Amino acid sequence: MTRMLIIGPPGSGKGTQAERISERLGVAAVSTGDIFRANVKGETPLGIEAKKYMDAGDFVPDSVTNKMVRDRLSESDVENGFLLDGYPRTTAQVGYLDGILANSEEKLDVVLQLTADDEELVSRLLGRAKETGRSDDNEAVIRHRLDLYHEQTEAVVAKYAERGILTQVDGIGGIGEVTDRVMSTLGDLLKVSAVTGR
Ligand code: AMP
Repeated sequence: MTRMLIIGPPGSGKGTQAERISERLGVAAVSTGDIFRANVKGETPLGIEAKKYMDAGDFVPDSVTNKMVRDRLSESDVENGFLLDGYPRTTAQVGYLDGILANSEEKLDVVLQLTADDEELVSRLLGRAKETGRSDDNEAVIRHRLDLYHEQTEAVVAKYAERGILTQVDGIGGIGEVTDRVMSTLGDLLKVSAVTGR
């Protein structure tokens, strides 16, 4: 059983990799960005609230996001593990997730950070904007999302590094190449964690 997070700046390919990795590990992928986008599309009250923030490249407030994650993690398909993508993004969310997991006597096995340089990310995201028409993919919003990553989410990465569960993988390269890198890193790590029980 694996409980893990994937963290990376916008454009690092974390969504794509999360789907591929979760399939290979046989666990559910839980992406807060995807849940928000589905709600925006369905014009639900949650989606209408979240859209304002998403379009500006801001974080959706914790009062909305934390509850959504708590509800999602209480569903039965994540009992045997999960791969969280896009949450937690702030140290306050780390505390909230700790609380959810502690309630069911669970903890994270591994936090995987995909790394990539900012200029590479901006050019990837501008390319994606042309393909998908995502409303949060214009240059000003992209730069704002990257700033938030540096200002807030890197502190999340640091927290998990302190706990000794962080592993970093270079996110630059072809999709398959990055997946192979991740799987070989995870293979080594998860084998170790199976033995030590950490
Ligand atoms: P993503 O697809 O992960 O880049 O998420 C898209 C957008 O959804 C973000 O720019 C935020 O507006 C919102 N979002 C996703 N996850 C979170 C989170 N953990 N906290 C706050 N907002 C989030």
